[in-house]
This record gives sequence, structure tokens and C-alpha cells, in this order.
Amino acid sequence: MRKFRLFTPGPCAVPEEVLLEMARPFHHHRTDWFKGYMKDATKKLQEVLQTENEVIIITGSGTAAAEAAIVGCNGAGSRLLTLEAGKFGERWGEIAQQFGIDVVRQKIDWGSAPTAELVDDCLKKDAKITGVMVVHSETSTATACDLKAIAEICRKHDKLLMADCITSAGALPLKPDKWGVDVVITGAQKSLMLPPGLGFLGLSKRACAAIEANKSQHAYYLNLNKARKMAAEHDTPFTPAHLLIRGLVRALDILLEEGMESVWKRVAAMAAATRAAGEAIGLKVFSKSPSDSVTALCPPDGIKVKELREELEKRYGIESAGGQDQLKGKIFRLGHMGYVDEMDTLLAIGALEQCLYKMGHKFSLGAGVTAAQKVFAERL
Ligand SMILES: *Cc1c(COP(=O)(O)O)cnc(C)c1O
Repeated sequence: MRKFRLFTPGPCAVPEEVLLEMARPFHHHRTDWFKGYMKDATKKLQEVLQTENEVIIITGSGTAAAEAAIVGCNGAGSRLLTLEAGKFGERWGEIAQQFGIDVVRQKIDWGSAPTAELVDDCLKKDAKITGVMVVHSETSTATACDLKAIAEICRKHDKLLMADCITSAGALPLKPDKWGVDVVITGAQKSLMLPPGLGFLGLSKRACAAIEANKSQHAYYLNLNKARKMAAEHDTPFTPAHLLIRGLVRALDILLEEGMESVWKRVAAMAAATRAAGEAIGLKVFSKSPSDSVTALCPPDGIKVKELREELEKRYGIESAGGQDQLKGKIFRLGHMGYVDEMDTLLAIGALEQCLYKMGHKFSLGAGVTAAQKVFAERL
């Protein structure tokens, strides 16, 4: 017997009741039946995302939602600053470039977070910049930035702020209305406990004005003028992934029942425990500003990431993630998103210890689990 355990930072584990909800017989989508789900999902997304702004549900993964926002909010005369501290930050710069948007691509060392000071400098140097795109939690490097501070700078300079919150929404404290984040982008398969296939956008009044002013959107399927018009009627321009939206309502209920403050605390504890465990057994935390939704650890000398990940999967059914691009072979990542709790985290740490022990790494067996338990014990 071998149990299967998903610890990748997306897709993440989905509760059985959400999966079962989507297995039930269904109706057509141009019906009041579906509009009821849309209305419900939109309202609950606003609660989870802590926003009163317009929320748009897009069929497609998180990248589809991001592309819709980048193309939709950056019409003629705009200049977008992209803060690129990892694979996802780079993707948003690439998309802007591919669509012919005037883009200033600011590179940041992988493992570091873009700071408010950096954004302030960039905006002071180039007055033509109209908008900023930042990744709140850069999953590729397991790094979080101070979105609140960056939003403050954007408000000071009166620039549109778009934030990739794909691995922060539903995991890290996020208060877009309070902070002044204009576009919140997220997706289904990270903390929102669904299989992949939906993207979500929260759009401030300023963002909506930018979208309305953009009469020459190059997008057809991902056109936000169309999507917003239909969303006002609890509808979608094209055939939506309506069973995912039905599952979404259930998944959001689970999150809201726990309460967002409690969810954030649980995720923070799982991440703190994983970092403490890593350090206790001689594995360095990669990020200089670690995100709580995913942890990147460096393997000990002499142990290959690929072999360690294979061992975790073969022995204990644990799926982890490696590093991407320049971090390939340098880090491995464990997610703290989706349907995982403290005991799942202890299990992953225990399994990691077993595998490292077998592979010849020298450490005191159990030190990682003990360090993690101490973090959790503070919450009892
Ligand atoms: C997963 C992820 C994405 C990409 O989303 P897809 O759903 O794979 O399109 C973008 N940004 C971040 C930070 C992510 O973690």
C-alpha cells in the first residue's frame, strides 16, 4: 500500500467533499441554476480576498487571469513596470512584451523580494510609468514581498498596482482594499483548494476605469470589458468551467468557516515549522524573505535534489517540487497551501528525515520533527 500526498506548491490537495461536489449531475450554464453559483462564488470570493471590489471569474489557469489583467489594464499610452524576482515575475514581463505593451522590466536577484524603496526609486526615475506589476508570493523562489508597503508607494505616486496573489490569496494576510491594491490576481489550484482551471481577478474602481478606457484590447477570449459586463449579470461571455465554480463555492465555504485570520495563522505556523525543521537538520532556507505559503530548502552537500524528491515519492507518496530554471538542482520546495494542516506538515518533515537518513545525510534523527512540534506547541 502506498498513500499519495500532494505537497507541491500548486496544484494542491483538494478536500474530498469539494471533489464529490463536482462529480454530481449538472445542468446547462445559461440557467438560473448556474447564475446562483456564480453569485454565491463571487460574494464568497470577495470575503476570502477581503475586498468589496468587482470580482471576475475566468475559465483558464492563473496565467489566463494575469494575461487578461495585463492586456486589459494597459491601453495606449501606458507604461508598465514589472518587478521580476523569479519565474512568475518574468512571465508577466514576457506577456507585456509579447502584446507590445511599453514595459520596463526590473530584475531582482532570485531569493530576494522587491522592496518599496526599489519601487519608489523606479517611479521617481521614470515619470512615464503608469502601472506596476508585482508578485506578492514568488512561488519559484518561495519569497514574499511587503505588498502593503509597495501599495503605499504606488498610492503616493498615483500608479495602478497589479499584484500576482496566486500563492498569497488564501494563505498570507492580504487586504487589497485597505492597502490600495488595484488588481488582485489569483487562481484555483493553490490555496483555494480546487483543481486547476479557474482564474480570479479583483478589480478596483481605478482598474475598471483603465479597462474601460482601453478600447483597443488585443484579447478576445480574455477581454475584461466583455467579462465585466457579463459578470454584472452573474454570467460569463463563453462556456465557463461551471463544475469548478460549483466546487469553488464549497471550497470557499470551508475557508470562510475557518475564518481568514485563522487560515493565515495556520499557514504561517506550517511554514515556520518547516523552516525550523530544515534548519534543525542542516538544510538552509533558500529565501532571504521567505513566503509562508511555500518553503524552499537547499539540499545538504552530496545529496541531489532529484534523488531526494524521487525517494520522497517512492517511499512515502510525497510529491514535492524542485527548483526551476537557475534554481534547478539547488532547491526543493514544499507547499503549505490547499487542504493541508499541521499534522500533514509533521508527516512531510518526518518523511524528509527518513529519506535524508537513508541517503547518508548526518543529523540527529527526529530533530526536524521536534523543532516543528515546538512551533506547533506554541499554538496549543
Ligand atoms: C502557479 C503560479 C502562477 C501560474 O499560474 P497557473 O495557474 O499555472 O497559470 C503564477 N504566479 C504564481 C506566483 C504562481 O504560484
